[in-house]
Amino acid sequence: MLYPLKLQPVYKEPIWGGRRLKEKFGKDIPSDHTGESWEVACHPNGTSTIANGTLKGKSLKEVIETYGIDLLGSRIGEEGIKKFPLLVKLIDASDKLSVQVHPGDEYAFKHENGELGKTEMWYVIHAEPETQLVYGVKPGVTKEQFRQGILNGNLEELLNFVDVQTGDVFFMPATTLHAIGKGLLIAEIQQNSDTTYRVYDWNRVDSSGNPRQLHIEKALDVTDLSDVTGKEKVEGISIHKGDHIRTYLAACKYFAAEKLQIKVVSHEMINGEKFDILMVVDGEGKIQYHDGQETFKSGDSFLIPANMGDYAITGNCTVIKSYVPDIAKDITEPLKKHGISDTDLRKIGGLYQIL
Ligand code: ZN
Repeated sequence: MLYPLKLQPVYKEPIWGGRRLKEKFGKDIPSDHTGESWEVACHPNGTSTIANGTLKGKSLKEVIETYGIDLLGSRIGEEGIKKFPLLVKLIDASDKLSVQVHPGDEYAFKHENGELGKTEMWYVIHAEPETQLVYGVKPGVTKEQFRQGILNGNLEELLNFVDVQTGDVFFMPATTLHAIGKGLLIAEIQQNSDTTYRVYDWNRVDSSGNPRQLHIEKALDVTDLSDVTGKEKVEGISIHKGDHIRTYLAACKYFAAEKLQIKVVSHEMINGEKFDILMVVDGEGKIQYHDGQETFKSGDSFLIPANMGDYAITGNCTVIKSYVPDIAKDITEPLKKHGISDTDLRKIGGLYQIL
């Protein structure tokens, strides 16, 4: 039987990175401009390593190849074993990120060598005062205005800026234009893809004095210019049970995410169909399972194997749990049993697109 796999991340050092992954989570970052920690990753551009137990030192890729469905679950299937479905990151934006967009599956497959598209979700762990991010464009912007904005360097006037507070949640379907704002510390859950079309980089240059590459034509091909104002933030649905609150944040065909705010204990079921990813964003505690326990602190991430059996999370902590959902079984049916209406289900990011 497998055990909760604690993961050692892969770090990325873009020009906009900072030091907060060390300051807040004690991570062993490689430099003062560490922007991304790929916490649970199995991608050609970065793979996390097992940090605990008998599998310590092995890459997630090796462990998936060895354990297959026992680790990832029957729902994930051969396809998911060949290509791990999710990528979970921590992001420290000490400066703003480029304005960018990701393609959908079909476009990425055709134009990016069989890559996946990228739908993503952000949970804001910390926002500095008066922070904003970019989510889509202002209402009524046409494709031609968008093109001219990029070419003339005045795209900023066309962007939809949103105020951000700690705890906010954003769900970005592939093709949504976006930029993470300066001062945000974010937990990101996304499809396992590294395809980004950068449309505007605020006229910045890298350490060698060169601007980073833009991908204007591809971005024009894929960017959704429809009106998203007022629909940017995800409200979620919170269920209070015992001493803890479970908030369903997002549920789409690629991933689901729940925020668990635990004071003492939360019981989690796992039945061989799927794996869980646990990202501890605050506090500390333990994962207790039939064979033992693993302690954790904020900033730690775990992959819970599909065959491990039910487990409990104990402690005083906030954990973001993500997984590949069966929407009816994991989300809509249990919530309807709690008396949540179809209209209220639309408060869950991504769910309105499939209901
Ligand atoms: Zn993105």
